[in-house]
Amino acid sequence: MTQILFRNISMKGLHTMKVYEEQGGYQSLKKAFDQKPEEILEAVKASGLRGRGGAGFPTGLKWSFLAKDVFPRYLCCNADESEPGTCKDRELLLKNPHLLIEGMILCSYACRIETGYVYMRGEFQDLSFIMDKAIEEAHAKGYLGKNIMGTGFDLEIHTHLGAGAYICGEETALFNSIEGFRGEPRNKPPFPTTHGLFGEPTAINNVETLVNVLPIVLDGGGAYAALGTERSPGTRLFCVSGRVMQPGTYEHEFGITLGGVIEAAGGMVAGSQLRTVLLGGAAGSFVGPDLLDLPLTLEATREAGLSLGSGVVMVFGHDDDIVDTVRRIAEFFRDESCGQCVPCRVGTVRQEEVLVRLGRGGSFPDERDLLDDLGSVMRDASICGLGQTASGAVRSAIDLGL
Ligand code: SF4
Repeated sequence: MTQILFRNISMKGLHTMKVYEEQGGYQSLKKAFDQKPEEILEAVKASGLRGRGGAGFPTGLKWSFLAKDVFPRYLCCNADESEPGTCKDRELLLKNPHLLIEGMILCSYACRIETGYVYMRGEFQDLSFIMDKAIEEAHAKGYLGKNIMGTGFDLEIHTHLGAGAYICGEETALFNSIEGFRGEPRNKPPFPTTHGLFGEPTAINNVETLVNVLPIVLDGGGAYAALGTERSPGTRLFCVSGRVMQPGTYEHEFGITLGGVIEAAGGMVAGSQLRTVLLGGAAGSFVGPDLLDLPLTLEATREAGLSLGSGVVMVFGHDDDIVDTVRRIAEFFRDESCGQCVPCRVGTVRQEEVLVRLGRGGSFPDERDLLDDLGSVMRDASICGLGQTASGAVRSAIDLGL
């Protein structure tokens, strides 16, 4: 098992500057400051690193789209992590906050950014204390603040707690939330690279994406690109839960099969037989045991009409109540819809109603047509990803005959 991000995650005291530095922490930063910002950007491009938030957009390319010579510009680290079943960024924030700070400094240096925010879901209050403490330590060591390590580069990082809304994980809703407005997504375009936080050019990446920049700077983009597959380089954090022997967060190279991920988590619990896996979280899809050989890469999942999403692998056995699980997913989306656009605001309510009726033994063919219509309208006409994906898991469950 290749461990890069989780190499020393269980080490006692890793969240402190002392232990982090003893473990080689802030070496990537020192190496970065021997290079020009453009060289860091080129290394990230050469590595082929793709965003781990779900869309899989090439990170270096995204950074290079920042509006030229427009300042100030911002970095937002999306640590909202509200997708049901997702618990990977939490692990990094809790146990290795300096890894994220170093990743944010590298990104800011490459993109000439002087202010960064770590946006965390409201339930992460404890983690925000840990993060604040780590930021304080980084200041004391001269890794943050004015004229960092004598380079003339300035950077401040702030933490910001949301109020517990799933929609604030959507990048533009996140900007609104930091700015003090309701957490509602904005229409795109314009995109964050030109009109992001406070209307200024903004780089926004999730925790896992930013911490991947460290090995790229330390060992070079080429070495990083050698991991995983050609179109999905590097490793991926998978959040494995449900009927497995050892649920938890696991780091694997891209390309491991779905069955391999389940095996690494100890396999199915005794007496349980695999029925389905929810891949990618509530916004993902249910897949059957016939896909155990599916390589978990961006390209293979896309080809199969699936998504790795936030790395959720939720395993269900034959005794689990899938109908109720699907209804709860629908309930979740109904609850978390911000209500700004009609297809999602009304569609998520109607979708849940149909599933409640189905659970009570409603007439299946008619209800399925209705679910199909609702799903199409939400997918095609909703403003943001929440509405566009709110029917995905439901439809996949019905297609699989669950
Ligand atoms: Fe809000 Fe849903 Fe519309 Fe997104 S799709 S803007 S969550 S109502």
